Amino acid sequence: MPDVLPLPVKIEPASDESGLGFLLRVARANGLALMAMLEGLGLPRSTWLGESAIAALARATEVDHDWLMEAIVIADQRQGYRWLRWQGRLWACPLSLRGAHPQVCVHCLKEGRPCMLEWELTGVVVCLRHCSSLIDACGYCGRRLSWTRPAIDVCSCGHFLAADAPAARSDTMANWVASLALKGCDRQQGFNAAQSTLPRWLGPMSADATLAIGFAFGVREKPFERVTSAAARVPPSTDRMASILARALVRLQGARDLTRACRADLRLSVYEQGVRRLWTRNVCPADRDTAAALLQWLGALHHRPRVLADGQRADQGELFPLQDGHD
Ligand SMILES: [Zn+2]
Ligand SMILES: [Zn+2]
Repeated sequence: MPDVLPLPVKIEPASDESGLGFLLRVARANGLALMAMLEGLGLPRSTWLGESAIAALARATEVDHDWLMEAIVIADQRQGYRWLRWQGRLWACPLSLRGAHPQVCVHCLKEGRPCMLEWELTGVVVCLRHCSSLIDACGYCGRRLSWTRPAIDVCSCGHFLAADAPAARSDTMANWVASLALKGCDRQQGFNAAQSTLPRWLGPMSADATLAIGFAFGVREKPFERVTSAAARVPPSTDRMASILARALVRLQGARDLTRACRADLRLSVYEQGVRRLWTRNVCPADRDTAAALLQWLGALHHRPRVLADGQRADQGELFPLQDGHD
């Protein structure tokens, strides 16, 4: 581990600030680009930071080690799979967290807020405070935002980030974003729909699985549409994620009651592989069990789970045996 001294200018992290957003602010306060700061501290020039680099950065910035470790997405290899770790939790779905491709609410930044923790969640596509879409690309040069930009509100092309058109108000989407932010990073969004329009069975699922379900229900525009392996692995742009979720939220209405037979058109529109993947790789039993129930509802359950985050094997018997007469 590199031996590091504290940086000359010290700043405090804001509450609910993203770890990389904080590091970007520290670098700027010290008159450095983030990459130059990492290099100056003898660390690799990458925003995919490992545990020892984060420990060194906690010393250099004089912040709480555990806070910084939880506020930055880290890769976590176990059982031969690549998981992610963030907010003290494991994440199995490779789409759940934005990682190297940040998104921001320009209005929040203009009001002096930092990069917020919940913007790390791919399924958080709007800011509930401002009822506006988050952006992940510069309106001037079109490039996707990165953590190597010169300041939290400035693109690498040098232009200030500008707000997109306001998002259409949707209580269902607000509900979705609020529940994801609460599950994913304990962020209360101050939004309380009188009656949740999301299926109740989504309630006990982790933020990781909730996003995986949103993706599986919305990624296909029409039945049978091919989903490439890259699309299932790489977090989409904020705009695309917003369209995927808008479709998913409509289709989830058709799956409010998993005891009823699944409509054929819905069944062919859901990306079954995504649900199956959740069944075999998940971070808690509620995720696995609901994925199993969903597969059964889709009429698609014929394999057994292979591996769980806690290392158990979940193949001691079928939890949800196949039933006939499903359609
Ligand atoms: Zn905002
Ligand atoms: Zn730009």
